[in-house]
Amino acid sequence: MKRETRLIHSGQPRRSDDLVNPPIERASTVLSPSTAELYNPTPPRRHYGRGGLSPNSELCDAIAGLYKADHVALTSSGLSGVILALRTALPDRPAGFQALITDSVYGPVRRFCDEELPRYGVAPVYYDPRISARDLAQLLQRPTAVVLLESPGSLTFEVQDLPGLTRAAREGGAATVIDDTWSAAILMNPLDLGIDYAAQALTKYAGGHSDFLMGSVAARGAAAARVRDKNVLFGGHVSPDDAFLCLRGLRTLPLRIEQSGRTGLELASRLDNHPRVARVLHPGLRSSPDHALFSQLFSGSAGCFGFILAGVEVEGGEAVAEKLNLFRLGFSWGGYESLVLPCDRQIRRTTAPWVSEGALLRLSAGLEHVDDLWADLSQALDVLDV
Ligand SMILES: *Cc1c(COP(=O)(O)O)cnc(C)c1O
Repeated sequence: MKRETRLIHSGQPRRSDDLVNPPIERASTVLSPSTAELYNPTPPRRHYGRGGLSPNSELCDAIAGLYKADHVALTSSGLSGVILALRTALPDRPAGFQALITDSVYGPVRRFCDEELPRYGVAPVYYDPRISARDLAQLLQRPTAVVLLESPGSLTFEVQDLPGLTRAAREGGAATVIDDTWSAAILMNPLDLGIDYAAQALTKYAGGHSDFLMGSVAARGAAAARVRDKNVLFGGHVSPDDAFLCLRGLRTLPLRIEQSGRTGLELASRLDNHPRVARVLHPGLRSSPDHALFSQLFSGSAGCFGFILAGVEVEGGEAVAEKLNLFRLGFSWGGYESLVLPCDRQIRRTTAPWVSEGALLRLSAGLEHVDDLWADLSQALDVLDV
């Protein structure tokens, strides 16, 4: 079956056959008929709420179907998903290893790498997101626990040579983790490329309605067993109410990401021709330096991208963002509503300073009509002419 069909027919209620949707089971405690059953429940008897009741287990099934994963762990936020994947990927005795982190990494993950990894004796080392496999192999000559990938980067949208970098990491004996929030397991499947752990902020496209936070880590084989074990060890759990919302969002994920992606690409190409725009950061545009690699690896675009205002200072970019009406100002993306985010204040770089022709704004195209969104962008850009 095709992925869309699998998505609709996976995550069906496990414990009833007359309801379309799995019920929300609010319980910590699962009662037991005997002590023997209490300590040794015979499947499919459940054990305890933390193990995931309904619809948490149905949600895991549905996400596993998208990735063709052997296990999916749910986490309390996207950030905690990436962190679970990183901690799981570390070897049992990590002291003395390095972790190779893409310099385009999501800011709060960078903070975890800088502040927490050294406590395990692991040194975070940043690499250029567009590094070649050969240059990564050079870095991998030092003992490396894990290579963290994120493609495209969520502020600056560089596309990484995922097959090459994954091969180099494997040959160097390092585990691989990707933050694949942008592709949402729809536009690209990192596990098919041999990446060990795929972490995603379900908060964004999977949820799609900006009404909860959640993350997932998907893996196959030995990595799947490891992430299952570590999530239990670290006490991970998500609310069944949020799991219900996420499963509901997931049913329409392919439709929404396609629509948002189409609108985003149309806005990106109109911005690309706008006199006030120096550069559009969207790998789906033919003018992008990443376009060839992107077309090879991704089946389409998500609706989140950036653009740089020619010769406009940070404050000028923020004034444009504030002038927008339909695009509202706020963190996050992937929801039904369009958002704008001025990015310059949060870009951090280690390998080389971020240089640009002006202020960087990020847009997340929602499900409004593209013409209304374009009218909004045009009137806001007009403030630059007065
Ligand atoms: C939002 C985001 C996260 C974190 O997700 P939360 O649910 O907000 O914690 C991680 N990675 C990327 C790329 C994101 O955009």
